[in-house]
Formats: sequence, structure tokens, C-alpha cells
Amino acid sequence: MQNTLQDHMQDTLLSEAQSQREPLSNQMRNKQQHIRIEKIKLLYLHSLTPIILSAVAGLFLVAALWTSASHQHLIIWLVTTVLFACARIWLMTQFKRANPQGSAVLKWEKPYAISLMAVFLVWSAGLICIMPRDNLSAVFILNTFSIGLAGAAISWYSPLRYLQMTTISLALIPMIIVLLTLGHEETFWVGIAACCMYVSCMITSVLLQKTFNGNLELAYDLEQAKKQAENLARTDALTGLNNRRAFFDKAEPLFAYCKRNQQPISALMLDVDHFKRINDSYGHAAGDIALRNLAQLIKTNLRDSDLACRFGGEEFAVLLPNTNAEEAMGMANMLKQLMASTIIALADENALSLTASFGIAENGDSVEDLLNHADKAMYAAKNYGRNHVMSYCHISKQFA
Ligand code: GH3
Ligand code: MG
Ligand code: MG
Repeated sequence: MQNTLQDHMQDTLLSEAQSQREPLSNQMRNKQQHIRIEKIKLLYLHSLTPIILSAVAGLFLVAALWTSASHQHLIIWLVTTVLFACARIWLMTQFKRANPQGSAVLKWEKPYAISLMAVFLVWSAGLICIMPRDNLSAVFILNTFSIGLAGAAISWYSPLRYLQMTTISLALIPMIIVLLTLGHEETFWVGIAACCMYVSCMITSVLLQKTFNGNLELAYDLEQAKKQAENLARTDALTGLNNRRAFFDKAEPLFAYCKRNQQPISALMLDVDHFKRINDSYGHAAGDIALRNLAQLIKTNLRDSDLACRFGGEEFAVLLPNTNAEEAMGMANMLKQLMASTIIALADENALSLTASFGIAENGDSVEDLLNHADKAMYAAKNYGRNHVMSYCHISKQFA
């Protein structure tokens, strides 16, 4: 199999074009989903207080209306609202117990929304049912209570716009209709005032939503920028491989894991042969393309568990967990052959292929130790005449 530079460039251009189209819409989708998840979590985490407070407020309302409204209606209404409050408390505890993460949180939106709307329906329809229509002071007490409910809806349910707007509407519209149609001049004007309150609540709701969404979007963008910066600081800009810092960060736990589990671990170092000549003959840009090509070849031929990095210049290091020296030798020989069979076509019908000198080593007392041994083996391969694989155990035996 021979790869040409044109193929490589075409692939790169194609994938860059795709990455400009797809990830952008993906990014937007991810952002929207992340924000929705945050909103649902907020709703669940902050809902216990309004549930308890609204049940207590209901108790005081019953006390206020005890002398003017039907006792039977008041008790039925109070018991129903307390039962609904208990059901919602149960839902909140279930959420806490399940502790859903990521997109699993989205499934909890529906039960929240349904239970909340049911509660507001009970509150609102209940208020109309228990209202003694011939007692104006009781009517105004209930109206004040409805406006209080709408206010609570604005503050507590602001994360999701449709919930906020529906709860405000459920709290106020039935009361407004009753006030406007009760047939008293006083209730009519109070009804008009309640209409103004309703409009004001809706406008506040829109403004709050904008601020709320803006804050969550900003927090998300900052988080993403931080991740991107961290990623850039750990990636080699030319090849996209780990840089030394990221490599050592990941290598230490990998090494410790293999030691703990009595698994072999090997290191492979490779240095491109006479790379300076390539730069001198074809130019630095062609050298860069050759290095990128080589990094791609290394990346695509390693196992997921292997750890590769650009160690510096035209030198690469690979850590091979659960791999003994013999298997590492096989891996190095495979890479050596692939390099030899990969022709990199350049402009003006020029073409080049790379060779490298490989050193491998197994075990060692630390990552540094292992890499040192592989490095020594690599230099032995250079001295041997280049385009060669050397194992540290062979050279150490020679010198023993
Ligand atoms: P040897 O076989 O002994 O390893 O010879 P060499 O020429 O590969 O080694 P030397 O250390 O003499 O030269 C390495 C060259 O690699 C010199 C340097 O300019 C080049 N190089 C290092 N990093 C880059 C890079 O990012 N891009 C390009 N194009 N060249 C680089
Ligand atoms: Mg070199
Ligand atoms: Mg070198």
C-alpha cells in the first residue's frame, strides 16, 4: 500500500472541510443540550423550597378564608395541594437518588413539567372553586394570592421559558376572567389591574430568560475555551500528537498500572534518518509535511491503549502497555516497513520516503528509565547504519 502526498493533502482538505461544517452544527447542538441539562438540574435542585413554602402559604390562605368560604371546599383544596406537594417532593428525591448525568438528565424534564403544571392547575382552579363570590374582600385576598403565585413562578421557574410562562398564565388568567366577569365595578377594575400585572410578568419573564440564557451560554463558552486551551497546551501543533508534557502526564499512570498488574510495558523511540538532508533538499515545508505524514502513520497503526508523542524535532516516542520486548520489536519492524513503503509525493513531481532508526526497551524502574534505554537502543541502531531496529536487551548484553 502506497500513500502519496496528494492523497494525504486531499484527505486533509476533505476532513478540514467536514470539520468546518459538521462540528459547528454539532457544537451548537452540544451547547444547547448542555444548557438545557443545566437548566433542568437547576430546577430540580432549587424546587424543594417553593414546594414547602407554597404548601405553608396554602395553610395561611385557608385560615384567612375560614370564616367566609365553605369549610368543605377549603379542606378538599388544602388536602389536594398538600398531596401534590408531597408527590413533587417525592419526584425531587427520586432525582437526587438517581443523580443522572449528561443527556440522562433530559428525561427528567417531562415529569417535572407535568407535575408543576398539574400543581398550578390545582392551585388556580382550586382558588376559583373556593372563592366566595359574594364576599369582595375574600375575592381580593384570592387575587392577591394569585399575583403572589405568579411572582413565585417568575423567580422559581425562570430556567425554562415555557414553564415560567405557563405557570404565570395558570396563576393569573382564570383569576382575571373571574374578576372581569363577576359583575362588580370594583372587581372589574381590579381585573384590569391584574391584566397589567400579567403583561408585566410576561415582559419580566422574557427579560429574565435572555439574561439567564446569556449567563449559561457564557459559562459554557468559557468552559469550552478553557478545555481548548488546555488541549492546545498538551498537543504538538504540527503533528497533532501528544507533546512531551501530555505524554509524561499520561505515561506515569500507565506505567504504574502495568507494574501493579504485573504486565510488561515497553517503550519505542524512533528518529528519522538524515532528516536534515530532506529539509536541505526539498525545503522546510516539505519536511513539515513529511513529519505530519509520519505522525499519521504512527497514529493509525498503534492500538488505542498505546501512547505516542512527538518527543522533539524528528524524534517520536511510543509507550506500549502490556507489551513485551519481542512484541515491541514486531511493532517497530512493522512501522519501519510501512515507512519504507510510504511514498510522499512533493510538488514538481518530486517524491520522498523516510527511514528511521528504532530503539525499543522493556520494563525499567520508571518511565524515564524505560525511555532512556529505548533511546540508547535507538542510537545503537543509528550507529549500526540507520533504518534499523535495536532492542536495549541486545545492546546491554553486548556491553555486559
Ligand atoms: P540522523 O540520521 O543522525 O538523525 O540525522 P538527522 O539529519 O535526522 O539529524 P539532525 O539532528 O542532524 O537533524 C535534525 C533535523 O530535523 C534538523 C532540524 O532542522 C530538523 N527539524 C527539527 N524539527 C523540525 C520541524 O518541525 N520541521 C522541519 N521541517 N524540520 C525539523
Ligand atoms: Mg534524525
Ligand atoms: Mg534527532
